[in-house]
Amino acid sequence: MKIEVKKLNALKKYTGVFEYDYQPPEDICLIPLCKVEGSVKVQGSYEIYDDDSVGVNFTVKYSINGQCSYCLKDAKMKVEKAFDILFVTEDDPDNYRYDGINIDLKAAVDDAILFSQPNVLLCREDCTGIDIK
Ligand SMILES: [Zn+2]
Repeated sequence: MKIEVKKLNALKKYTGVFEYDYQPPEDICLIPLCKVEGSVKVQGSYEIYDDDSVGVNFTVKYSINGQCSYCLKDAKMKVEKAFDILFVTEDDPDNYRYDGINIDLKAAVDDAILFSQPNVLLCREDCTGIDIK
């Protein structure tokens, strides 16, 4: 998804909303034996400010499935998390950079998927691991 900042500025459309399905890279899920199922739903809004910085609020929604990190049974979980980021035209370690013309959301959305995923996937909240009887 691209936000065409220069064009939107010319059209005086300083705010807007977007929604799309994003197919993440295969290796985006860091939990062993698990993967992101299908595509990630990305929904959000942007606001272009006077200094050409652009505020973007968005939510990523997706499912992780695979094997429980403790007992290896099939497990699945839904993840939904909101992010609030800023794109600027100069180098700034706290924000995302763009060229002043178009914003490509890919890197920010990939980061959002990385930051929003849990460290483990469990078949149920109180899973204690493989039963040894
Ligand atoms: Zn389990």
